[in-house]
Amino acid sequence: MIDFHCHLDLYRSPLEVAEDAERLGIGILSVTTTPSAWPGTSRLAEGRSTIKTALGLHPQLASERKHELRLFDRYLPDAAFVGEVGLDGSPEHRSSWSDQELVFGHVLRCCEEAQDKIVSIHSRRAAGAVLDSLDKFGGVRAPILHWFSGTRAELRRAVDRGCWFSVGAAMLAGAKGRALVHEMPRDRVLLETDGPFAQVNRNALRPSDVAIACRSLADLWSTDCEDAELIIGKNERTLLRLSTEKRGSTGDPDR
Ligand code: MN
Repeated sequence: MIDFHCHLDLYRSPLEVAEDAERLGIGILSVTTTPSAWPGTSRLAEGRSTIKTALGLHPQLASERKHELRLFDRYLPDAAFVGEVGLDGSPEHRSSWSDQELVFGHVLRCCEEAQDKIVSIHSRRAAGAVLDSLDKFGGVRAPILHWFSGTRAELRRAVDRGCWFSVGAAMLAGAKGRALVHEMPRDRVLLETDGPFAQVNRNALRPSDVAIACRSLADLWSTDCEDAELIIGKNERTLLRLSTEKRGSTGDPDR
């Protein structure tokens, strides 16, 4: 299983968490919140094929770090994955909305040009605006909406737009989250922890805690854990294949 949204670099002992996940056979999409974190966070994945590092600029840091878009552009050719990026419409971040749109628009334009990026997207209180942006920059190959918390209508729109969804234990613990996950097509669902930010019983989730989310999913899908794991495993392979195939590729490895 793969934790599709984990802030590996923000744990107190990132290396220990990375080694632990590797030992347990858990893959990690290691998202970053600033471009300047990319080189150091990428080093945590060195020699570990099961950890992929994503280049990000978190919407909550848009105003403070928009000058790092130059770094984003510099590192992007080396990044198959982008995240955490997106928009945050919560009251405490509304004052940075125009900077958030500037950063997210820039990121999506670059991803549209590159065509082959898999993007982990934050859309708290901003699902409609995130979907508007994805419509505007139509070339994002595989948008993954992480911890989706929009309305059912927005969910349907996201499904029609081809979005994927990474869901975690905290989201599956609440009635609203469970209802949304229930409506998601099973072949678009992935697991995440959002650790170390997300917690269960006041403990920061670690990548291996995707097992908790998988158990909740099995329950929600009225199936057993093995079945849920099989579905998730198939989804993971489908998505990862997208990162190695460029759009319109004819099989020519140089394209
Ligand atoms: Mn996050």
